[in-house]
Amino acid sequence: MTGRVTIVEHPLVQHKLSYLRDKETPTVHFRKLANEITLLLTYEATKELPTEDYEIETPLERMTAQRISGKKVAVCPVLRAGIGMLDGVLSLVSSARVGFIGLYRDEDTLEAVQYYVKLPVDLHERDAIVLDPMLATGHSSVAAINAVKDAGAQAVTLVCIVAAPPGVEEVHKHHPDVHIVCAALDRGLNEHGYIVPGLGDAGDRLYGTK
Ligand code: URA
Repeated sequence: MTGRVTIVEHPLVQHKLSYLRDKETPTVHFRKLANEITLLLTYEATKELPTEDYEIETPLERMTAQRISGKKVAVCPVLRAGIGMLDGVLSLVSSARVGFIGLYRDEDTLEAVQYYVKLPVDLHERDAIVLDPMLATGHSSVAAINAVKDAGAQAVTLVCIVAAPPGVEEVHKHHPDVHIVCAALDRGLNEHGYIVPGLGDAGDRLYGTK
């Protein structure tokens, strides 16, 4: 069974993504664009939140309006690059709780090594949105999804900025139920496990560490 992948092809997303990919884009703009793209991806990722009818009065008359029906959300960025997407989600889903998953990539094995996890205590009552900007080998996303599911998260959506086919395959091999929402599905990975054409190291570009 193959899982669900949504590539958001909206012109605003694609326009902003091109600037994000450009190596001349400075850190200050990269940070802003990463959050703006994530906000637009969140719009797609939350499209199926259930709503309920309720009665309100406009200045003119009574009407039946709609509101999100009590579904609670936890946003879980993978440290450190996922933090660069957090404000984008919170600007739309401001009441979400936030959990953090610290992972680093072992540069020899490319495996994800977990060094920190702090998740909302009531995660079993929530849907989780996991934020991992670059879905490359898929190891860090799978480890992060394992962590939120182990803590009882209900439905899990993975929001990334750029995905590559091996990462999508790896996530859906372990978690076929997870909906992946991204701005692009790139050609593949280079010999260092970086997405090509990609945008480079998302953490370094967000925080200016290289
Ligand atoms: N992590 C990144 O930051 N970039 C990639 O291309 C792959 C993993």
